[in-house]
Amino acid sequence: MHLDDLPDNPYLLLTPGPLSTTKSVKAAMLRDWCTWDDDYKNLVQRVRAELVLLATRHTEQYTTVLMQGSGTFVVEAMVGSAVPKAGRLLVLTNGAYGDRIVQIARYLKIETVVHDSGELNTPDLERLENTLIQDRDITHVTVVHCETTTGMLNPIDAIGKVVKKYGKIYLVDTMSSFGGIPMDIAELNIDFCVSSANKCIQGVPGFGFVIAKKQAMMQCEGRAKSLSLDLFDQWKVMEQDQGKWRYTSPTHVVRAFYQAIKELKEEGGVESRYERYCNNHRVLVEGMRNLGFKTLLPDAFQSPIITSFCSPEDEKYKFVTFYNLLKKKGFVIYPGKASKISAFRIGNIGDVYPEDIRRLLAAVEQSMYWKS
Ligand SMILES: *Cc1c(COP(=O)(O)O)cnc(C)c1O
Repeated sequence: MHLDDLPDNPYLLLTPGPLSTTKSVKAAMLRDWCTWDDDYKNLVQRVRAELVLLATRHTEQYTTVLMQGSGTFVVEAMVGSAVPKAGRLLVLTNGAYGDRIVQIARYLKIETVVHDSGELNTPDLERLENTLIQDRDITHVTVVHCETTTGMLNPIDAIGKVVKKYGKIYLVDTMSSFGGIPMDIAELNIDFCVSSANKCIQGVPGFGFVIAKKQAMMQCEGRAKSLSLDLFDQWKVMEQDQGKWRYTSPTHVVRAFYQAIKELKEEGGVESRYERYCNNHRVLVEGMRNLGFKTLLPDAFQSPIITSFCSPEDEKYKFVTFYNLLKKKGFVIYPGKASKISAFRIGNIGDVYPEDIRRLLAAVEQSMYWKS
C-alpha cells in the first residue's frame, strides 16, 4: 500500500508536544540504522550542524549536543552539567516549567535562589538586577522562554542583558519556542539553551538537544552529577567520534527529525513557521472570543505557541466532557496547568493550519453543551 493511502490520524493534536507531524516525517522512520555506522553518524552530524544554523548567525561560537530522553531529561542534563557544585543558580519562574527547573536543581543539590513572579506576570527586571548586585555568589541565571503552562512569552532579551551586565552564565529553556519563534541566541546573550525533537521543529518524541556557547561548554567537564545525563561527556564523544552517541540512540527519531528540519526549511524557515503559528493563534483567539471565551493572559504577554482560555463560568461545564466531545470531532486539546485559575489550553504548533483552526472553532461551537 502506498503511504498516502494509509488512514489519517483519528484526531489532530492541538497540544504543545508531542504534536501532529506530517506523514513524511513519520515515513522517514521506516528504516533501521546502525548506531555506530558512518551512515548514521553523518546523519547526526548534519542534524547538529542544522541546529546551530537555526540558532544563530554566529555559528562559530556555538556547538550542540543531542541527548536521549524527553525535554525534561535534557533540561536536567543542562542544569546538572552547567552549574558546578560550588555554583548558585537564580531561577526566574512564572509557571510549572520554571518550577520544574527549581525542582531539578534541588534534586541535584544545587543552591538556588527563586524569583517567582506568579503565573500572570513577567519576571521583575529590577528585582533581578538588585539581586545580582547584592548576591555576588550567584553564578548562573535561568528562565523559560515560552512558559507553556500559560502560553506566556518571557522577555529573554531584556533578561539576558542584565545577566551579562553582571557576568553570569545564562541558561534558557527554549523548549516550546525553538524553531517556532525567530531568535539569534548569540544576540540574546544565551550560553545554553535547550529544546526537544517534538516541539516546534515538528519531529517525533525521543530526544532533546542543548545548543551552547563552545567556551561555556568546555568549562563543564566533571560538573555533571549523573553519568547518563553528563552533557559534557556526551558532547565530547559526539565531537571526537563525529556523531557518535554514548549508549543507544533513538535512531529512527533522529532520522525523522532530520526530515522535520528539511520541511522547516521548505516552509521558508523559522520566520515563515512563526507567521503560520501567529495566524493560527489569531484565528483561534478571534473565533474563541466570538464564542464568548476569555483568554487567561493579557495579549501583550501571549505567545503564538499555546493559548490558555478560562473555563466557562457555568456549573454544567466539565473539562472532560468538553474534551471528549471535541475528540470525537477530531481535535485533542489540553487541560489547563495554571495553579489558581481553571482553564484549558489549545496549541497552535505542529502540522496545523488556519483552516484546521476554523474547523476546530466550528467543533467548539457544536460542543458547548453547557449552553443548551
Ligand atoms: C515541553 C516542555 C518541556 C519538557 O517537557 P517533557 O514533557 O519532558 O518533554 C520543558 N519546558 C517547556 C517550557 C516545555 O514546553
